[in-house]
Amino acid sequence: HANAAPAPAAAPASSYKRFSEQAIARDFPTLKARLFANENPFGPSEKAKKAIVDAMANSYQYPFLLIEELTAKITTAEGVAKEQFMIGAGSTPLLQAAAMIFAKNGGGSIVAADPSYDYLPEEASKFFNAKWVKVPLTPDYKHDLDAMEKAIDANTSLVYICNPNNPTGTVVDTAKLKAFCERVSKRVPVFVDEAYIDYLPDPKGTTLIDCVKKGHNVIVARTFSKLHGFAGLRVGYIVAQPDMIKSFEPYSSSWGAIAATSANAALASYGDTDFLKEALKKTNESKEYLYAVLKKEGYTYIPSSTNFVMFPLNMDSERFVEEMMKRGVGVRSWKFNSKEWCRVSIGRMDEMKAFEEAFKQLS
Ligand code: PMP
Repeated sequence: HANAAPAPAAAPASSYKRFSEQAIARDFPTLKARLFANENPFGPSEKAKKAIVDAMANSYQYPFLLIEELTAKITTAEGVAKEQFMIGAGSTPLLQAAAMIFAKNGGGSIVAADPSYDYLPEEASKFFNAKWVKVPLTPDYKHDLDAMEKAIDANTSLVYICNPNNPTGTVVDTAKLKAFCERVSKRVPVFVDEAYIDYLPDPKGTTLIDCVKKGHNVIVARTFSKLHGFAGLRVGYIVAQPDMIKSFEPYSSSWGAIAATSANAALASYGDTDFLKEALKKTNESKEYLYAVLKKEGYTYIPSSTNFVMFPLNMDSERFVEEMMKRGVGVRSWKFNSKEWCRVSIGRMDEMKAFEEAFKQLS
């Protein structure tokens, strides 16, 4: 039929056994609720959007000064030297660089929790033949710092800690983590990924940047992708000792790591407490709504300090995810502690309602 509209592309038949967030985004471009990548739909701020437009007029120029200005703003606020700082196009290139640096041509091993954000240990093991030594979480789904310390041996080249942890949304006790880092970093560097720290009630009191300031061999990674809502703009950074930052230099060109538009947007968003408070408030409202839906349907969940919630399923998690996708709701599956799990990112209220509607049909 010459005039027939082309059939909509069918969802691929393949199971999402090893699906990635990229695969979901490609195969399901028109989801009603995009709750699979821990993005923040309440951002970026209007000020950040205006800053992008402002920077466009001069975007034929290299962003030397904008990146310098952003570096100065962040390092001043965090109380560290410029030599202790490196910017990246999101934190991913910096995690990737760390994987290269610490895999040590295949000799090293990386001690990291499981389940945790697997990018760094996965990259290191996949591309650089390092070994990921997986340490299970405690029964309350937090980092088992004692077990992690015991897992360190002569081969360990890095300890990776994601705090708050993705995918469980849990936070480890700050005093214990600081003591752990100060002790352990005498033997091996500790990489603390603080992607979600802005969601905590007291980020300043929780950050491990304090340990960097005290001279310990700790690398702290941050990103604008989460509470600032910059996932598509790509701005992240690390804070570490100057000699450690130097070892990242072969993998970065700091003057050109991010676009002028992104740098100007980050300048507008960093320290914008009104916007950040509002985004946090909306996130918490949506999270409370999700908790209520889960309770009403008879489910438990891991109480979350972040913009995502993990809860156990009573069906195969990959099948659950596929069924949710078919209903226009993107979420992610996990298997650990011999259970099937779903991780839902916190979105706008209409997205949480779309989740509720689809979920009710499956629960
Ligand atoms: N760290 C953690 C813990 C994350 O969850 C993510 C994104 N999912 C990243 C780092 C990478 O994010 P980005 O490159 O956008 O900063």
